[in-house]
Amino acid sequence: MDFLFDLHTHTIASGHAYSTLKENMEEAAAKGLLAYGFSDHSEAVPGSCKNIYFMNFKAIPRRFKDVLILRGVEANIIDYKGNLDIDNGILGRLDYVIASLHTICIKPGSLEENMDAYFGAMSNRFVKIIGHPDDGRYPIDHDELAKEANKRGIVLELNNSSLNPDSARQNGRENAIKMLEAAKKYGTNVICNTDSHYADSVGDFRNCDILLREMDFPQELILNNSMEKLKLVLNKSIEEM
Ligand SMILES: [Zn+2]
Ligand SMILES: [Zn+2]
Repeated sequence: MDFLFDLHTHTIASGHAYSTLKENMEEAAAKGLLAYGFSDHSEAVPGSCKNIYFMNFKAIPRRFKDVLILRGVEANIIDYKGNLDIDNGILGRLDYVIASLHTICIKPGSLEENMDAYFGAMSNRFVKIIGHPDDGRYPIDHDELAKEANKRGIVLELNNSSLNPDSARQNGRENAIKMLEAAKKYGTNVICNTDSHYADSVGDFRNCDILLREMDFPQELILNNSMEKLKLVLNKSIEEM
């Protein structure tokens, strides 16, 4: 399958990732991506970016060797109401927003609490992607998540890193399968992202590719094979950028 873009990647600015933005952009160009997005963690992750990091992205070129450069964030959901650790004034300046649960920012709740956290985050008008809803430490109802995501025009992430056997997330593969089955059932869009924390893994979708093939997952529900479908997760039009 064609993976034209990778929107969930981290740079050294995240505090626990090890490549610069330029190194990641070079890798995106080398892999032949048409768009590359960086999405450093917002501030509830220790050692990560303060708000001011997200306010000067105009310094970064929009194109690098024919790759469209997109400016995003992986925002932290910090309570069971789905509040984020970064406010809408800043989110509105970015091209896209991923919202995720991380154990370092919010303790896993009951199934109901975790669902409320996701539903609350999904009601934020800037959030278009739910990052790695595949971590067994946060039990969820995959059917309900996919149904609600579809209703709200939110896209669920198939995270290449969660499928690595050494991932800290629990039962990533098993849960990704549940997520994909639910997405198929409700016609919910899925975005593949690498969640790269080191340049070499930018644009490396091998785990996603294998799983999608194994499941014979419908191509039309995957965003990454079309620049038109990329627009579904952006808060700005590409023409305006
Ligand atoms: Zn990280
Ligand atoms: Zn994450």
